[in-house]
Amino acid sequence: MSFDYDLFVIGGGSGGVRAARISASEYGAKVALAEEYRMGGTCVIRGCVPKKLMVFASGFPGAVADAQAYGWDATIGAFDWPAFRGRLDTELDRLEGIYRAGLDRAGVTVFDSRATLVDAHTVQLADGDTVTARHILIATGGTPVVPEKWRDMGVMTSNEVFLMDRLPKSILIVGGGYIASEFACIFNGLGVKTTQFYRGAQILRGFDEEARGHISDEMCANGVDLRLGTDILEMERREDGTTWVKSTTGHDATYDAVMFATGRRPNTDGLGLDALGLELGRGGAIPVDKYSQTAVPSVFAVGDVTDRANLTPVAIREGHAFADTVFGGKPTYFDHGLIPTAIFTQPEFGTVGLSEEEARDKGPINVYAAAFRPMHSLFAGRQARALMKLIVCARSDKVLGCHIVADHSGEMIQLAGVAIAMGATKADFDRTLAVHPTMAEELVTMRTLTRSWGD
Ligand SMILES: Cc1cc2nc3c(=O)[nH]c(=O)nc-3n(C[C@H](O)[C@H](O)[C@H](O)COP(=O)(O)OP(=O)(O)OC[C@H]3O[C@@H](n4cnc5c(N)ncnc54)[C@H](O)[C@@H]3O)c2cc1C
Repeated sequence: MSFDYDLFVIGGGSGGVRAARISASEYGAKVALAEEYRMGGTCVIRGCVPKKLMVFASGFPGAVADAQAYGWDATIGAFDWPAFRGRLDTELDRLEGIYRAGLDRAGVTVFDSRATLVDAHTVQLADGDTVTARHILIATGGTPVVPEKWRDMGVMTSNEVFLMDRLPKSILIVGGGYIASEFACIFNGLGVKTTQFYRGAQILRGFDEEARGHISDEMCANGVDLRLGTDILEMERREDGTTWVKSTTGHDATYDAVMFATGRRPNTDGLGLDALGLELGRGGAIPVDKYSQTAVPSVFAVGDVTDRANLTPVAIREGHAFADTVFGGKPTYFDHGLIPTAIFTQPEFGTVGLSEEEARDKGPINVYAAAFRPMHSLFAGRQARALMKLIVCARSDKVLGCHIVADHSGEMIQLAGVAIAMGATKADFDRTLAVHPTMAEELVTMRTLTRSWGD
């Protein structure tokens, strides 16, 4: 049977673009890709990249306050959102262009169109045209979820936040995950009066509990009005564009803007998966095996649409492994077991491996933890504290997890991740010479056992 293409990729985000490019340029496959919005996907257009640039922007008032403490005659004026937004748009256009050029160089045919599945080898474009392919890769990502009753109240999600015309004076952020917490810190840093509601007992569910508590304390100390165990009870959009909110704890206030970061769901609505007889998993995720193959042999799926670990480098690895497996003749899969990652709250959180709670359930462990005031902020007269933590297997001495709450901990955890991926033991950390004076030296100088669990 002949097909128009060897591969048709639906979705031009991190996973789809990598899979398309490698399949075409390294393995000579004839590839097409459809993208319905903007090339680069969530990470580039409305996720990691614009968010990190906002994180940078929000750090300047603190840096100037520190500069004063260090003896500089420094002051900071108002933040000009339209000016920032203009530069941001230009930068995102530039990055989108790089993604397009990469696909073009690899010989991938791009359709600027929505695509849906008709059958196991056929895709339909928005204009009704159909295209056939030996393999179809679904890489449609995810989308933010807002509880239905608040959807028509003019609230923002991370999709709209980068498109704001002006910076609000006050904002309510609803949610306790990493996106909600990062944006609470961003707005707070930009001088916006920031309130965060989270219905659970502590933000950043799923991460090391000590680190969660530490971050939440620091966020509050920095000025975020974080209200745990709190949800929205009533909400009303006012004529002047503000929003009145009554919380489940009885408190009420009016906010200039409300942002929901209450979770994301896989982008599978209306994709035609029912025609293939594919049963979806929790929240609409596409179930796949370790090679990202669905129950329909010609159809694969990578990235957030599979809801395995929703991070850009994971989507990229899954996309690359797909290309190696299907077109490179090298069966390859990404092992989701050890994922270093960073959360860009202020202070930042770098984490890899098991949390203390997860490790405790698996066997006896030793925990080494140190909370201290780093030199840089201590000198500036700030009370900010950093946290460094190693979780060590009591039997093998292997470091099972490393958790750092400190400025630049994302950079530190990348390297700690290499050591842990190589199976480093606590003794390996101990015999590594400290780099002085740094914060990270604490990781190799923690000799006193903080606590032990198990036999
Ligand atoms: C605010 C925010 C911050 C984030 N920060 C980080 C971070 O700091 N670090 C990190 O690692 N990850 C971060 N992420 C997660 C990261 O962005 C995603 O994990 C990553 O983009 C997933 O890549 P993907 O290829 O699966 O999907 P996406 O990048 O979402 O790409 C999917 C693409 O498919 C397109 N599409 C969907 N349906 C169709 C269709 N039917 N036809 C054609 N095109 C379609 C979409 O328009 C989109 O462009 C963040 C996410 C958000 C929302």
